Amino acid sequence: MSYARVLCVGLVGISGHLVEVEADLSAGLPVVVLTGLPDTALHEARDRVRAAVVNSGQPWPNRRITVNLLPATLPKHGSGFDLAIACALLTGAGELPAAPFEGVVVLGELGLDGAVRAVRGVLPMVAAAARIGITRVIVPLANAREATVVPGVTVRAVDSLHRLVAFVRGEGPLLDPPTAAPEPARSGPDLADVAGQEMGRFGLEVAAAGGHHISLIGPPGAGKTMLAERLPSVLPELDDAAALEVTALQSIAGVLADDGGLVRRPPFQAPHHSASLAALVGGGSGLARPGALSLAHRGVLFLDEAPELANATLQALRQPLESGRVVLARARGTTEYPARVQLVLAANPCPCASPAGDQHCTCTPKVRRRYLGRISGPLLDRIDIQITLWPLSAAQLMTTSGPAESSATVAKRVAEARAAAKARWAADGWRVNAEVPGPQLRRPPWRLRPKDTAALRAGLDQGRLSARGFDRILRLAWTVSDLDGRDRPTGADVRVAAQLRMGEAHDQNAS
Ligand SMILES: [Zn+2]
Repeated sequence: MSYARVLCVGLVGISGHLVEVEADLSAGLPVVVLTGLPDTALHEARDRVRAAVVNSGQPWPNRRITVNLLPATLPKHGSGFDLAIACALLTGAGELPAAPFEGVVVLGELGLDGAVRAVRGVLPMVAAAARIGITRVIVPLANAREATVVPGVTVRAVDSLHRLVAFVRGEGPLLDPPTAAPEPARSGPDLADVAGQEMGRFGLEVAAAGGHHISLIGPPGAGKTMLAERLPSVLPELDDAAALEVTALQSIAGVLADDGGLVRRPPFQAPHHSASLAALVGGGSGLARPGALSLAHRGVLFLDEAPELANATLQALRQPLESGRVVLARARGTTEYPARVQLVLAANPCPCASPAGDQHCTCTPKVRRRYLGRISGPLLDRIDIQITLWPLSAAQLMTTSGPAESSATVAKRVAEARAAAKARWAADGWRVNAEVPGPQLRRPPWRLRPKDTAALRAGLDQGRLSARGFDRILRLAWTVSDLDGRDRPTGADVRVAAQLRMGEAHDQNAS
């Protein structure tokens, strides 16, 4: 036999596509020709595969070897094809029987010594294989646990090419994937640790219940980061589809936790304001890595000290926040990753960042306005809730009565509110109130009683409130009402919503 075929999977963005690795051996000069749109890493595969085969004690076929990756039109990145190439080549040379590879997807990078190394993105690759009916995969031992997350697929692991060769010849077993670790208890920061800050806690709860973006404005020490970090703890667990997406993104980024199980908690990402664009939106050569925006998909993106973000960064965030996905321009076409995030934006009220109550702040009202104005255009436009936080005085800390509510308690109310919203908007396909377009809320049957919105309409007429601001308050009113278990918002809910919207943040000391 001088021809063989082994199955593999390539990734485009988050979705996997079956790749057939063909090897053809013919008389001629002993060279290896790789075809099928390989990128640089794939060319390097030629040298890795050769060294790995020889160092695994297998004879290198001294013939003209053509390796072709199909379909040719699919862009292929990375080193995950190594093992399949080695198998196709050895089978084509007659060193291995072909039958054991039929209907089996083989994934893995080869070291020069013949070791099989982990590759990024094994979970979405195996998921793609399963979707087209493939039930057996062979993966690197280090990726085996994440592969077992996909139902209906038998996963076998290898640590070396030598082991795989022995198995195919019937001379030894493959490895079993490590058994899944026990489900970790719900851990992480808890709202019970946050003393006082009633307005901040309430804002966070409303944000969680309605899926609203939120900004927290306050001096250092007011607890902005403490609150932001606790938003995931009150969000519901990810459903199956979302969990698979989030886990796949972490797999592609190479940051999946060692236990390799399905990620069920909404992720939290807090890129520093000086982070590079690639770190924020994704990039890098070969298989583009998802950035913080995509790693926060279905979870929380926390931007601290938002006015310090570079203009280029603010611009780069605008489109993904609108569309829920990041499109990365690549040499060969584009890579796309999902990025549906809930934004928490934090800022000091002024550039000198002196603690509140402190008389050291010498910033003029104009400087303060300009400081917060830096984020006003692209980001603040999308923010429904604006909360101003003040540091707790020692006296307040001492008098705060009893322990604060725990995340679990708040999460229960959030879950009930979300269920109500989901049921209401199910026919239109919206999951949370934040997704509902303004016009929908101004039309029957969702239009509120005129007397409940009279103050808002007056604000609109007098120019104190924009049309978009009006819609945001309506959205928030629905969430406040959902949290209290009402069918529809009352005038009081509208007033609470207006407070959450105004936040005083941008007027304080500004005039
Ligand atoms: Zn200042």
